[in-house]
Amino acid sequence: MANNEESRGLKSLFDWFANRKKNGQIGIERQQEREIADGLWHKCPKCGVLSYTKDLLANQMVCGDCGYHNRVDSDERIRQLIDAGTWRAMDENLHSADPLGFRDRKTYSDRLRELTEKTGLTDAVKTGLGQIDNHPIALGVMDFRFLGGSMGSVVGEKLTRLIEQATQRRYPVVIVCASGGARMQEGMLSLMQMAKISGALQRHHDEKLLYIPVLTNPTAGGVTASFAMLGDIILAEPKAMIAFAGRRVIEQTLREKLPEDFQTAEDLLKHGFVDDIVCRTQLKKTLTQLIALHQPSSTPSHNMVLWETRSLSSTVAE
Ligand SMILES: [Zn+2]
Repeated sequence: MANNEESRGLKSLFDWFANRKKNGQIGIERQQEREIADGLWHKCPKCGVLSYTKDLLANQMVCGDCGYHNRVDSDERIRQLIDAGTWRAMDENLHSADPLGFRDRKTYSDRLRELTEKTGLTDAVKTGLGQIDNHPIALGVMDFRFLGGSMGSVVGEKLTRLIEQATQRRYPVVIVCASGGARMQEGMLSLMQMAKISGALQRHHDEKLLYIPVLTNPTAGGVTASFAMLGDIILAEPKAMIAFAGRRVIEQTLREKLPEDFQTAEDLLKHGFVDDIVCRTQLKKTLTQLIALHQPSSTPSHNMVLWETRSLSSTVAE
């Protein structure tokens, strides 16, 4: 009897310690979750390391441990690339008119309104003129938060106007791509944007001006099939998924398993679709170097830049 009571007492003491430990653990986890939710900490989705959001932001949202590139929104990207105080946004008031009256679970116009309220964006791209280390550029930044960065008529129109401005002013164009592709809610009208933007880029190119797309995770569908692949120099962020059709669709069509690194920036670099992979922390420096190299310099010895040389040699070959 005494033994039983003793063991019961011991058991309850064990339970008490176990509970205390468990609760303490949960308490810590809850606290961590709360801090993550509060945005104080950030857990890397790749390596799981916790880092201060402030430190992560200072490192341009690149994980200091494994180099994982967290997605950044358009405002943050502009802040990273453009010299402070030089950004002049363009066409901020363009809204989609829902030309097809599209509806799935919600109407397309409701979806657009809700996204504008949530993100403060009017559509999936921000465009404007600014300076990158004192060089003027025309910059477009796609924002994945707005319907997966999909390209509808507003994205097409804003990018076309940006490129036309750049052609007029003889500015280089940089477009940071992050998109699932064409916007199905605008059907045919969103597919037309591929040709419209490509046409504007051709006129920019005819003026011997520089265009650099930066492919970030993910760049897919109609964006890959048009302006993302039309660059004079195509840059990509490490491990970015760059594709036309999705992996599953291709596997089902071909009935074979695709390699692990299929549709990654690294695989595309190997096959010549991408010219270089640049870590985000080096992106501004790299873009500045490329732009400076392409700009006619006042010193004549630097005037014959790489791209001029290439176009001249192709003329000779013809
Ligand atoms: Zn990491």
